[in-house]
Amino acid sequence: MGKLQERYSQYTLPQQIKAEGIYPYFRAIESEQSTVVTMNGREVLMFGSNSYLGLANHPRIKEAAKKAIDKYGTSCSGSRFLNGTLDIHLELEEKLAKLVGKESAICYSTGFQVNLGVVSALCNRGDYLLLDSLDHASIIEGSRLSFSKILKFNHNDMSSLEAKLKLCEPDRIKLIVVDGIFSMEGDITNLPVIVQLAEKYDASIMVDDAHSLGVIGDGGRGTASHFNLTPKVDLIMGTFSKSFASLGGFIAGDESVINYLRHNSRSLIFSASMTPASVASVSTAIDIMLEEPERIKHLWDLTRYAHEAFKSHGIFIGKSETPIIPLYVRDNFKVLQLTRMLLDEGIFINPVITPAVPKEDSMIRFSLMATHTFDQLDIAIDKIVGSFKKLGLLSASTVKNS
Ligand code: PMP
Repeated sequence: MGKLQERYSQYTLPQQIKAEGIYPYFRAIESEQSTVVTMNGREVLMFGSNSYLGLANHPRIKEAAKKAIDKYGTSCSGSRFLNGTLDIHLELEEKLAKLVGKESAICYSTGFQVNLGVVSALCNRGDYLLLDSLDHASIIEGSRLSFSKILKFNHNDMSSLEAKLKLCEPDRIKLIVVDGIFSMEGDITNLPVIVQLAEKYDASIMVDDAHSLGVIGDGGRGTASHFNLTPKVDLIMGTFSKSFASLGGFIAGDESVINYLRHNSRSLIFSASMTPASVASVSTAIDIMLEEPERIKHLWDLTRYAHEAFKSHGIFIGKSETPIIPLYVRDNFKVLQLTRMLLDEGIFINPVITPAVPKEDSMIRFSLMATHTFDQLDIAIDKIVGSFKKLGLLSASTVKNS
């Protein structure tokens, strides 16, 4: 056995969890991503998807993707920088810039690559990156590749952000990077105060709208629009893998900044471009979002209902204000048990345990889609409350809703 195999044959945690019968990862779905999916030949209600607008199986989007394959083939076989730019990439970028109210936009092949390539490229030695402690992993990875100083502030804590801004030298770039809606906790960044602080300390702002597009803001335009602060946000980042029923991501901002990224961002330049089918899907998803505002309205009707229901049953949902609803369990093993029990009862939810979060914050991540019905939601709530009861989780320690 080589050194490599020797080290990694000692990594047996997944096998141990499998032996307990509660391994919750890589569970195969045999159907399209909808409110009902097929697993092991059985129908399961999906409450663990990021398809917030429920568009991932929309006939118009499927048709657009098929047409794009017919016209452009299945791959661009190269990077945007060289042979991988299609006319539809450029059209999509114009559409995205207009959608979020910025001068210019550029698309990458995943949202992760956007954050990696943008956060690493914009701040040099001596500059500052100011990150919320719960920012997405892709932002953290991007910051690790940057030569700038990294200052982390406590989650959504504006006095902590100000304390970090005070440490920065005034004449350097100071880029504050935050998630618009935090992906696990479902709370919204305090953009109004971030904007005030950015003005006071001459800092710039980048908002990751992965979970905000299609959910908040005018017509689903995201966090800056939600707070009516679009001109005050320098960079808006989004992914296509959630509300926009596809794969890829973009960054939008002033043409000067996007122009620099277009020519210097390594995860853009050294990676193949979005496939034709992915581009066509995003574009059609945006059209549907704007044409059918009732989707977002229904998503929010479901959200308010679910928040009230979980709270009234004594399940702690933290500071969630959105269709991402954390159900705090505070015990890794019980999260895995619950995930298994619920799947057996026909409900798919996502477990969030250490190391993704500290043990005391372990939770079930419950997420809604605009295509869920109230009947489906009632079934899920009923089964979740039943499982929490069975595991003795409705005792005082988890009941902390105000
Ligand atoms: N940012 C946030 C906040 C995310 O939650 C995610 C994905 N979970 C990403 C970026 C990466 O996006 P993608 O899945 O498109 O790579």
